[in-house]
Parts: sequence; C-alpha cells; structure tokens
Amino acid sequence: MDALQIVTRKIEPIMEVQTRVIDYMTRYMVGRGFKWLLPVMLSSITDPLWPDPAAREALKPLEVEVYGERLRLTHSMILHKQMAVAMGIDKLFILSPNIRLEGRSADDGRHTYEFTQFDFEIAGASMADVIKLIEDLISGLFKEARSWGLERRIPRVRPPFRRFTLEEIKEEFGSEEEASRLMKEPFWITDIEREFYDREDPEKPGHFRNYDLYLPGGYGEVSSGGEREWEYKVIVRKMRKAGISLEAFRPYLEVAKAGLLRPSAGAGIGVERLVRYMVGAEHIAEVQPFPRIPGTPAVI
Ligand code: AMP
Ligand code: MG
Repeated sequence: MDALQIVTRKIEPIMEVQTRVIDYMTRYMVGRGFKWLLPVMLSSITDPLWPDPAAREALKPLEVEVYGERLRLTHSMILHKQMAVAMGIDKLFILSPNIRLEGRSADDGRHTYEFTQFDFEIAGASMADVIKLIEDLISGLFKEARSWGLERRIPRVRPPFRRFTLEEIKEEFGSEEEASRLMKEPFWITDIEREFYDREDPEKPGHFRNYDLYLPGGYGEVSSGGEREWEYKVIVRKMRKAGISLEAFRPYLEVAKAGLLRPSAGAGIGVERLVRYMVGAEHIAEVQPFPRIPGTPAVI
C-alpha cells in the first residue's frame, strides 16, 4: 500500500468500533477499582519473549540511545506490571504499545510489529480469577456489540468457555490454529511452557498456571496471561534454564532479590486482534490506520 491507498481506505467505521471496544473495556476496569497506568515505551528491561513456543525465532528488542545509555523499546510491560504491583498498586491496567520486530513469515493476518495490549494485573489473584474476569468482560462486550449494528454477527457466548491444555489441543486438533478454525466459540488453552515469569505449578512441576484465549473462526489467539513467579530463587533458576542473561535484567532481579515482588496474575488482550474479530476483517492491517506489517516498512 502506498500513502494514497492508506489515506483513501474506508476506516472511519472501524475506528468507531474500536472506540466502543476500548470504551467498554476501560469502563469495565475503572468500575472495578483498577488503576489506569500510562505506558512505558523505553526501559532498560523488557519482556524477553523467550522461550515462546509460538515464536519461530528469538526477537531482539529495538534499542535506542538515551542520554548515553542503551534503552529498549517495549516488547510488553509484564515486568513493569509486576513492579507496579510491588509498589502497592493492587489492580492495574494499561493500554500498552508494544514493538516486536517479527520476520516477514509472521505476516499471517494476525501479526503487526506495532500493536497495543489492553494489559492488566491483579495482586494475589489466581488463574481462576483472571479467567473469570476475561470471560465476563468478553461475553459482556459481545452482548453489547450485538446492538451496534455491525455487519458481522457477533455470537452469543456464555461462560465458562471450554478449556483445553496445549497437549489436549495438539492431540485433538493438531494445532492451535486448526482448533481456532474449527471451534464455534472462544476457548482457552492452558498449561504452556514459556517465559520465566509465568508460574510453574508448584504441585505439578512441568505444568504451568497460564492461559491463552482463542477466538473462533480462525481468528486465533487474542489474549495471553498467567499467574506469575515472584520468588527470586525460582526466577533465577528459570532464567538460567532459558539461557537468559541475568545481567540484562539486573533492576528486576534486584527488586526480586529484595523480596519485593508479590504473587499476582494478569493478562493482555490484543486490541487490534479483538477489533479485527469484531469487524470480521480479513487482515489485521485493515484495522490499523497506519499498518505495521512484519517484513514491510511502514509507509506512514
Ligand atoms: P503475548 O503476551 O505476547 O501473547 O501478547 C498479548 C496479546 O497481544 C496477544 O494475545 C495478542 O492478542 C496480542 N499480540 C501479540 N503479538 C502481537 C502482534 N505481533 N500483532 C498483534 N497483536 C499481537
Ligand atoms: Mg501469547
């Protein structure tokens, strides 16, 4: 797409839907006592996004020089969410811009290299608490959206959504994408071995207290979350196992070592992916006024 094609697309109705989606979600959180934090975009530390079973390659965060120091552009605010909980902010959410430089092969209609997470975290919460909150949020949003006069029919969904472990998905459907293509309702995939900060089940080592929400109709993953690790020893052991440099996460580990991290759970919902589903767009670029497609430099 060139600049003229971008500017002459009919995107205003999609922005109307996006406005309603963000309005619904932010009202939901504010009404439940969540504090609305503003995003961090530059930091000495960011989400390593590794190991990630969905990633074809390890992503390197972009770095820029700031007052003589190298800082990273935010991959996700997970580590800052944990530190905000450490500050005593027990329930928080952020509309958080994330930059992830994925390769051209990630252009599957679902990936952009600049997107926004509706990201939240709750001190002392469990996996069950967060799953229940997201189910309530999504089913309420879908219910309200049915009165918006959308071209696409938003299904009536009733919690609880079906839950599968990743192992069950692979056995039953072959892959997460195939499950999303065949399922008629949103569903959960749980127990995914991935980044160090997602909590390993202390009663079932090798199993993980995390959860991803998938949308039906092939729209794929829309949210990822988990209970979090907070104990220094556990975090260091998992970072070492993943081959992650401890030095690169020094300020985070300092806070963890001082015993200041607290148990929490949370999740992030991809705003563009959710809006894409609500309007039934073929490609995620259709819901971005300024598309950011992996492998293609931004025109505007
Ligand atoms: P993650 O914790 O990495 O799964 O990110 C949280 C959510 O952000 C995902 O469930 C997606 O909805 C969204 N997301 C992640 N990566 C991308 C991407 N490259 N493009 C668009 N949305 C994304
Ligand atoms: Mg994910």
